[in-house]
Amino acid sequence: MRPEILNPLFAEVEALKGVGPGIAKSLARLGLTRAIDLAYHLPTGTIERIHAAAASGALLGRIVILAVTPYEVRAGAGRAPTRIFAADGEGNTITLTFFNNPGWARKQLPLGEPRVVSGRLDAWGDEWQIVHPDVIEPAAATDIAIREPVYPLTEGISNKRMRELALTGLERAPELAEWIEPSLLAQQHWPAWRAALAMVHSDPAEANARKRVSYDEIFANQLALLLLRQVARRKRGVPLQGDGRITAKLKLPYQLTGAQRRVIDEIRGDMAQDRPMLRLLQGDVGSGKTLVALLAMLEAVEAGAQAAMLAPTEILSRQHFATLQRQCEAIGVRVAILTGREKGRAREAVLMGLADGSIDILVGTHAIFQAHVAYHRLGLIVIDEQHRFGVSQRLLLSEKAERPPHLLAMTATPIPRTLTLTVYGEMDVSRIDEMPPGRTPIETLVISDQKLADVIEGLGRHLAAGGQAYWVCPLVEESESVDAAAAEERAALLRQRFGTGKVGLVHGRMKGPEKDGVMASFASGDTGVLVATTVIEVGVDVPNATLIIVEGAERFGLAQLHQLRGRVGRGSGASRCILLRGSTLSETGRARLALMRETNDGFRIAEEDLRLRGPGEILGTRQSGEQGFKIATPEDVAELVPMAMGDARLLLDRDGGLASERGQAARLCLYLFERDAAVGLLRSG
Ligand code: ADP
Ligand code: MG
Repeated sequence: MRPEILNPLFAEVEALKGVGPGIAKSLARLGLTRAIDLAYHLPTGTIERIHAAAASGALLGRIVILAVTPYEVRAGAGRAPTRIFAADGEGNTITLTFFNNPGWARKQLPLGEPRVVSGRLDAWGDEWQIVHPDVIEPAAATDIAIREPVYPLTEGISNKRMRELALTGLERAPELAEWIEPSLLAQQHWPAWRAALAMVHSDPAEANARKRVSYDEIFANQLALLLLRQVARRKRGVPLQGDGRITAKLKLPYQLTGAQRRVIDEIRGDMAQDRPMLRLLQGDVGSGKTLVALLAMLEAVEAGAQAAMLAPTEILSRQHFATLQRQCEAIGVRVAILTGREKGRAREAVLMGLADGSIDILVGTHAIFQAHVAYHRLGLIVIDEQHRFGVSQRLLLSEKAERPPHLLAMTATPIPRTLTLTVYGEMDVSRIDEMPPGRTPIETLVISDQKLADVIEGLGRHLAAGGQAYWVCPLVEESESVDAAAAEERAALLRQRFGTGKVGLVHGRMKGPEKDGVMASFASGDTGVLVATTVIEVGVDVPNATLIIVEGAERFGLAQLHQLRGRVGRGSGASRCILLRGSTLSETGRARLALMRETNDGFRIAEEDLRLRGPGEILGTRQSGEQGFKIATPEDVAELVPMAMGDARLLLDRDGGLASERGQAARLCLYLFERDAAVGLLRSG
């Protein structure tokens, strides 16, 4: 349960004075539903206003507060703005320009009556103008703040009102005991928690206060991750050490890459310990993670245990099953599959085989961890495409068993090192940083979408030569229905050109089985082109699909583009990625896309993406269910994560149960940032 002292902060916004359902609804659009959300709704900058007696060249570009008297209105014809001419204290003419609400403007600025206006003074031709000035009655003019923090806004709430609301939220914040190590606090000159928040609200540029506020968020995250690790490591696992008798029989058509050999050594080293392994395997799409997983699973089997491999989708489960079965049949290792689709007798047979130990390796969707699925001796869990699952799932898996199995999580999301620590801080990390030999690098082209017709012609030639292709439509709106419509439209166009049967379509609004069907018919080669929003399956191998076309490429994150591109680089033949860019693309947008042409190195791309777009985007917060940071910027993450990690480690070393005074304070911090699941762990453990 949440400590009582925090309850006022977690009250709904409607409980605050002056907040009715209307405002609450507006606030909800910004995700502000509780007092604490308002208290943490921080200003992004400051407007500085200057009181001026009259306009002057020196004031151009500044926000001025100016007494004027309107003397003429010129109504805009058609789309032209309404312009109100006014005289300042020295008789200069200032044009007050309104692109909308002309009625309101006229009422606010009656001719011949002195008014005070405020806004940015611009030069327009040889006129001075202010576009959409704030208009103030002279009597109220002294109310205008000279320096005013600027808040992220939504329709229906002015900046002034938002600031009042934020401060109302802040009023509910009590003084809290300090959770930061005293020496760190002193060294950084950071204010206390409440004082820091208040300072950021009054001066967003206050660097120390701001940093402390970010630090708290990061600290809560790191501490939660370490608690997770502590729980997973507290229980003893089962050491598993193979004797090589099964792997020796394995016939591979190729040699392991150096990187594969290195990571399998790391994994074997972990599995031999009686501490359960908690390891993340990172490697680009096509880097050969499946084989590493197989070797790890065989290690478990040689040691007399079972292994389970979790995949995010039905179709990927089936593909893994086929691959594993092909390799395992010859060496006497029994593999089974369990998904929502196995029913009746087939399902019973699998459950029995698991329980009596006659099945060595099980592959499947989350069905493999349902409560009634009992293993004879589960020694290793492999999670494929880990980024599709959340932290909580990792947690559940490790929490269940008396002697927890070893855990190997695999992901193709190339997460920069600093972020690895924030997302997977509780795990050890192995990286496959080398591709299997003989791959032709994917050729990447950036083409203007005005060349769409040419691209479609090129696609036609590709299909005629027996190739297959992905056609990816961007997430335009944050709405699946709009995106689906765009994809449907594109599919319709391509069907017109290539025939209905040649073109498949998957999007986020389709149900699982329907999606699987489309995907399967593409994988089998029945359809030539697969039109998709970004929902196309991860990890599924379609050897003939050697062309991918990404529409609206500038709307994607680089890491996301890199992953999409990876769908086609899997065979030994040449493959190509065409990035179609909008014709209105900005310079920076262009530079980003150019980087895609330059490098195939997922880690380099991820670092760049982090720099350009921030952590939330890279982690694909929406898809993966991982919590991103709301306050901390990428710079904060880079600077403060190592610091917070050290601080959290120190605290847990001294006080693993968070029972001391400082430990109790740290619990408050976990609650503030809703990492309370981690607090729950403490009690149950
Ligand atoms: P991912 O890391 O994306 O899961 P996969 O494990 O699916 O990649 O491997 C991609 C392809 O590379 C597969 O066809 C696999 O058989 C092949 N492969 C894996 N390891 C090697 C290797 N050492 N040499 C050559 N090909 C390999
Ligand atoms: Mg894979």
